[in-house]
Amino acid sequence: MKERIKIIEGDITKQEVDAIVNAANTSLLGGGGVDGAIHRTAGPELLEETRKIGGCPTGEARVSKGYLLPAKWVIHTVGPVWAGGHKNEENLLAGCYRNSLKAAAELGVKSIAFPSISTGAYRFPLNRATEIAMTETRKFLGTNENPEKVIFVCFGEKVLKTYQQVFQRIF
Ligand code: ADP
Repeated sequence: MKERIKIIEGDITKQEVDAIVNAANTSLLGGGGVDGAIHRTAGPELLEETRKIGGCPTGEARVSKGYLLPAKWVIHTVGPVWAGGHKNEENLLAGCYRNSLKAAAELGVKSIAFPSISTGAYRFPLNRATEIAMTETRKFLGTNENPEKVIFVCFGEKVLKTYQQVFQRIF
């Protein structure tokens, strides 16, 4: 299974994959961080579509087209805001990975790229978030043929190092 995972440092908006995952907020109307970058690159039609979708609860995922992005699809998922760990944050974050992968499989997506959901503005501790990302991905790939390939796109060296370390332990 190891060979189905790739960890890279880079910008998710540049990934030539079937689907990229957006760390969105519940409104799906765009925001800062990776969400802002995805909307800027995809162009205004993305906002038109996500406005029609009408929002997304924390832990769930919604699909849109990718418009001007190289990726065909954007899977919008809403990570939990870290509030100390007693507000179901871990299960909600696990749900983001599970539901995004499920949406990808339903679309027949072969390759998908994930950012590090919730670890920016939403302040989820990076190590624990990375363990959850990898654990859920391993479980899903164990029982599903698609996506064939999962790329974790790390923004900055700290995220990259953490992903590489956690990968060694979990896969
Ligand atoms: P959240 O609100 O879910 O915490 P953020 O966008 O603030 O989302 O941060 C999530 C992660 O995405 C952080 O690690 C941040 O550095 C990273 N990130 C920001 N821009 C990009 C980008 N263009 N490509 C990939 N990752 C990005």
